[in-house]
Amino acid sequence: MNPDLQDLYQQMIMDHNKNPRNFRVMPDATSVAEGFNPLCGDHLHVYIKMKNGRIEDVSFEGDGCAISKASASMMTGILKGKTGGEAKALFEEVRAMLSRDVNSPVDTEKLGKLAVFAGVCEFPSRVKCASLAWHTMVEGLEPTGKQVTTE
Ligand code: ZN
Repeated sequence: MNPDLQDLYQQMIMDHNKNPRNFRVMPDATSVAEGFNPLCGDHLHVYIKMKNGRIEDVSFEGDGCAISKASASMMTGILKGKTGGEAKALFEEVRAMLSRDVNSPVDTEKLGKLAVFAGVCEFPSRVKCASLAWHTMVEGLEPTGKQVTTE
C-alpha cells in the first residue's frame, strides 16, 4: 500500500479510537448484542434500533483495543439508515476484505471509509479485533441472546 495512504488510515483509526462515534448505551434499542474477543480482551455491546425495516439508530459501548473501537465507531456511523439486508451485505464485504490475500485489491467503492482496515489482513490476530463489532451487529439483527465470541 502507498505509505501516505497507510499513514492517513492509521490516523483515522487513532482518531476513531480516541473519539469514538455513537459510543453510548441506547435505552430504547430494539436489540442489544454482546461480543467478546478473548484473544485480545475486546468486549462490547452493540445497540440497534430498527424502524420500518431500517436501522434508525445504532451505537456501541465497551472496552477494547484501538482497532476494535475504531471499527465499531466507523461501523455505527455507516449503518444508520440501512436495511438489515444491506447491513449484512456490508458485513460480508468487510469480512472478505479482512480475510483476503494482502496483495489482492479492495473494493473501495463498496467499502468506502471502511477500507482503512484493509491493512489489518496482514495481522491475523487483529482481524478478530476489526471484525468483532460486525459479528456482534449481525447477531443484533436477528438476536439469539447468545454472546458472540470470536473463538
Ligand atoms: Zn483487540
